[in-house]
Amino acid sequence: MTLQNNKYVLAHRPVGVPDDKTFSWKTSDVPELADGEICIKVKMISIDPAMRGWINEGKSYVPPVQIGEVMRAGGVGEVVASKNEKFAVGDHVVGLPGTQEYCVTDGKGFTKVDPALAPINKYLGVLGMPGMTAYFGILEVGQPQAGETVVVSAAAGAVGGLVGQIAKIKGCRVIGIAGGPEKCKKVKAELGFDECIDYKNENVKKSLKELCPDGINVYFDNVGGEILEAALANLAMKARVVVCGAISQYNNTEMGTGPRNYLALLVTRSRMEGMVVFDWAKRYGEAAKQMGQWMMQGKLKAEEHIVEGLETYPQTLQMLFKGENKAKLIIKVAA
Ligand code: NAP
Repeated sequence: MTLQNNKYVLAHRPVGVPDDKTFSWKTSDVPELADGEICIKVKMISIDPAMRGWINEGKSYVPPVQIGEVMRAGGVGEVVASKNEKFAVGDHVVGLPGTQEYCVTDGKGFTKVDPALAPINKYLGVLGMPGMTAYFGILEVGQPQAGETVVVSAAAGAVGGLVGQIAKIKGCRVIGIAGGPEKCKKVKAELGFDECIDYKNENVKKSLKELCPDGINVYFDNVGGEILEAALANLAMKARVVVCGAISQYNNTEMGTGPRNYLALLVTRSRMEGMVVFDWAKRYGEAAKQMGQWMMQGKLKAEEHIVEGLETYPQTLQMLFKGENKAKLIIKVAA
């Protein structure tokens, strides 16, 4: 019997926040394998802020998803049929299978992972793209030195939570910025940050001034906008600003104007540098090994927030922009 594949395809390019009409649910037969192809049963997909950028028209660091195309998504799954000698039935693989139940591919861009070493959700979190982003972003771009003050936004999230913990391991004083008292409490009590500013209820610029009397040495930016401006207003001399993301700006319908106070970089002789995680692809193994060791030593905590069912994808994606995810956001597609 032919397998059926349920999937979400891009229906139209959204203006502002993607909604339930941005994607359409389609069902089709899983095609017969050609030589060199494999069929992956998708088990989990990663829900990422970058998805918002992928559905915009125009050039970014990857080409946009086209209308009618399966929505791009990182994920992990099991090979259920193979005509490719590099992959056997039963192998677990991580890559970009898309928002669908079955992915037929030539296997390029997929890497085998071992579910006996770590639960498969970890390969989408701390041992996957967010973990690699945190590791190389803070260590290679931020270059934190022991005793320095590191500030991280979206501190309760997938990347931010790891960035702060890595900076603590390196002997820094770490201040998070997150939305709401519950997230701030978690960032301090569970992730071990020294302080956390609730941007929804505090004046971030003022709180940073109070908490960083000698200025910020490294600001790891996940959100952009006014929070970035508040950090720039409080830089120490020779500070490093890591431009990892700007989630507060992704749904803008007009081009933003900030950061208005970028001359703070001139005054403090500071550096602001963008990063894309894929640039460190050759060193992912080194990072995963180190993060695994820190986890086993109890120095690094990583959680996932798992939502059941591929059909929830449009609503689950919206959770990121409402701050409703409590950790790395994942959809469980199949057992
Ligand atoms: P995440 O932090 O787990 O989830 C997103 C969080 O952003 C939400 O939980 C929410 O937390 C916060 N947020 C949403 N809207 C906001 C707003 N208007 N102002 C301030 N905070 C807001 O997501 P993630 O996967 O770890 O990604 C974090 C950032 O890293 C994103 O900007 C993403 O694009 C970027 N990233 C970049 C790379 C790269 O290679 N450059 C790779 C991966 C991720 P609160 O409840 O605290 O508001």
